[in-house]
Amino acid sequence: MLPSPQAHLADAVLTVDLDAVAANWRYLRDLGRAAGRPVDCAAVLKADAYGLGAAPVAQRLFAEGCRHFFVAHADEGVAVRAVVPDAWICVLNGLPTGADADYVELGLVPALNDLGQVSTWRSAAQRYVQPLDAVVHLDTGMNRLGLTVDEAALLANDRMRLRGLRLALLMSHLVSAEKPADPINREQLDRFRTFVSRMPGAPASVANSSGIFLGGDFHFDLMRPGAALYGINPTPGATNPMRQVASLRARILQVRQIDAMTGVGYNHDWRSARPSRIAVIAVGYADGYLRALGNRGEVMIDNHLARVVGRVSMDLITVDVTDLPETVVRPGAFAELIGAHQTPDQVAEKAHTNGYEILTSLGARYHRAYIGAAS
Ligand SMILES: *Cc1c(COP(=O)(O)O)cnc(C)c1O
Repeated sequence: MLPSPQAHLADAVLTVDLDAVAANWRYLRDLGRAAGRPVDCAAVLKADAYGLGAAPVAQRLFAEGCRHFFVAHADEGVAVRAVVPDAWICVLNGLPTGADADYVELGLVPALNDLGQVSTWRSAAQRYVQPLDAVVHLDTGMNRLGLTVDEAALLANDRMRLRGLRLALLMSHLVSAEKPADPINREQLDRFRTFVSRMPGAPASVANSSGIFLGGDFHFDLMRPGAALYGINPTPGATNPMRQVASLRARILQVRQIDAMTGVGYNHDWRSARPSRIAVIAVGYADGYLRALGNRGEVMIDNHLARVVGRVSMDLITVDVTDLPETVVRPGAFAELIGAHQTPDQVAEKAHTNGYEILTSLGARYHRAYIGAAS
């Protein structure tokens, strides 16, 4: 990754509001506590905290009281461990062959995704003569990672397979949590409950962001939100209860006047119907500004919306600013690409994707500014 450019030289600035991340985390935690049970709230930090920066997010949330973190890759766990030495960190992708010594040394807890991993981890506990935390991931319907229901039954009938391990968590992941009416939610809940009841004493976890909003039945002992912490709406179709976290601004490099019937950008994918003014802005698909936003995206310049015209290039977009006051569209001024009026969910809709992909695509060459970083 390139070093962050100097702020005053930056052509594009990503601002991450860690106060908003913290407020979102507290809001979700309090939803879990509403029923009066002691439910903990974790934070999912995979993919560099959905593109926003795992290290600053982990530090701030740890300061806020969050103690449980989930990553996908072991490398991500290493990066989180470096900034929150006392946190509990679980690696969702599991235990790769030959990695057990590193996991033990770094205090990473694998989500055990099959019986082979269970037995490898148990052997590690014997070899290192210390009880190791284990997370058992049960597949209740995703058909992706995790023990099958049959494997889970073998485990429940033969608890010796877990000897030397401290069963820190039983977990499963929901297929369709953002669609409350989908019957798969209840089916997965039933399968998970059956498993949990056969493994008494172990804490359990099933809810991602949207799962938290399916109600108290889904909260169990630990909730695992990712997206909602970062401002993505966990309740699509209803008002977003989360605070916006990311804002992205990029500089206007040049403003040009063109005649009617003039093509702009690669392949002249857009032609002016009238004499037009075009602002050229310093962001492109190399920054995660998706090509699908060509002729569809919108940017905000001083409270005026302007539409992307033509193709998205690697480093540039072109925007029709004909109807905007000339005084606000000047080279050097910034246009807002993501922000209060252009949430990741709204940008996603225009790009035919979801807010998760918009955030995790955010580029490496933005200058990154953090509001409310933990010291
Ligand atoms: C990504 C992930 C989460 C978080 O999901 P969100 O929808 O972002 O809240 C939780 N659990 C697992 C297993 C995941 O892979």
